[in-house]
Amino acid sequence: MTKAFNSTFSGLPTTVFETMSRLAREHNAVNLGQGFPDDPGAEDIRQKAAEAVVSGWNQYPPMMGLPELRAAVSAHYWHHQGVSFDPDSEIMVTSGATEAIAGALFALIEPGDEVVLFEPLYDAYLPLVKRAGGVPKFVKLEPPEWRFTAESLMAAFSPRTKLVLFNNPLNPSGTVCPPEDLSMLAHFCMAHDAIALCDEVWEHVVFDGLSHIPLIALPGMRERTVKIGSAGKIFSLTGWKVGFVMAAPEIMKVLSKAHQFLTFTTPPNLQSAVAYGLAKEDAFFDLMRADFQSARDYLSKGLTDLGFSVLPSQGTYFINFDIAPLGENDDVAFCQRLVTELGVAAIPVSAFYAEEPVKTIVRLCFAKKRSTLDAALERLSGVRRR
Ligand code: GLN
Repeated sequence: MTKAFNSTFSGLPTTVFETMSRLAREHNAVNLGQGFPDDPGAEDIRQKAAEAVVSGWNQYPPMMGLPELRAAVSAHYWHHQGVSFDPDSEIMVTSGATEAIAGALFALIEPGDEVVLFEPLYDAYLPLVKRAGGVPKFVKLEPPEWRFTAESLMAAFSPRTKLVLFNNPLNPSGTVCPPEDLSMLAHFCMAHDAIALCDEVWEHVVFDGLSHIPLIALPGMRERTVKIGSAGKIFSLTGWKVGFVMAAPEIMKVLSKAHQFLTFTTPPNLQSAVAYGLAKEDAFFDLMRADFQSARDYLSKGLTDLGFSVLPSQGTYFINFDIAPLGENDDVAFCQRLVTELGVAAIPVSAFYAEEPVKTIVRLCFAKKRSTLDAALERLSGVRRR
């Protein structure tokens, strides 16, 4: 081939998550990089999926998702977040949240439209925005608080802002956006007539009694927000790739046009198992949060005892530490040594920045068994001040 491939994708490296998991396998490392639990997940939910594969429907399900799943999503958000979505006109099932994000970007923006993005940003966002023709405008968030300000929003928003892509709780920082900051963001969206595309996949994974506030529930946001959720994160079954997207009917109509030509449908058996899971009693979700919270505390204490400067984590599967006090200023080089020399895979947070990265923060996934965390801590004790 002599003609150039698409420049957005041909210039991209393999994702940092895939790269780190491969290095972890090669070096027989403890993998606290890519975010996935090392627990098999609730057996009854997996059993439902198995039954549905063997005895259920294995042909195309309806394009918008199984009616039973859309009803379950609606009931779930009403019960847990007090937001009401009409299962027939406001909910669509997608093959994971990433498909929902890609579809929404393709459906909602025109080439040249400005898209506000918050850094650190999940690595899929920027290539998708660019491929959809969006012009990225960054709001840079920095440790330890990772908060935006009126000034930083003012610098990013303009009359050309079409959409804001917002992740809350935020991966990789593990922070939950404070209510006053959410209100400020809502005001900016309204003042600029912008759509908020909300990646809320970590909505259930929040700690210390915090509860998730969906941006779509704020006054004035119901008609201009797209909310995205993910069964992979709600049930710690990250390989399932069953997501859902909620929006007012007018927006949903165009979202469905993108979805019909991206994946069209999502495996029906997994959809029925997710419908079953979403109806679980509160205790199920409380226990999930309590388990992750205690794993967070365990790793946090272990790291602190070893002398690491640990940042707070309010949600997600992740906790970060600062390598600057270790005399380090290059997170990529640090993570490379960590995996090859000490046998622990981690994620350098600079991978989540497009420009002027923060280069001294390293992300670890604590959603692991105690024995895995112990093995990682044992190896991390080999990190010496340089
Ligand atoms: N969401 C996962 C993480 O942040 C990664 C998913 C992936 O590997 N694409 O670790």
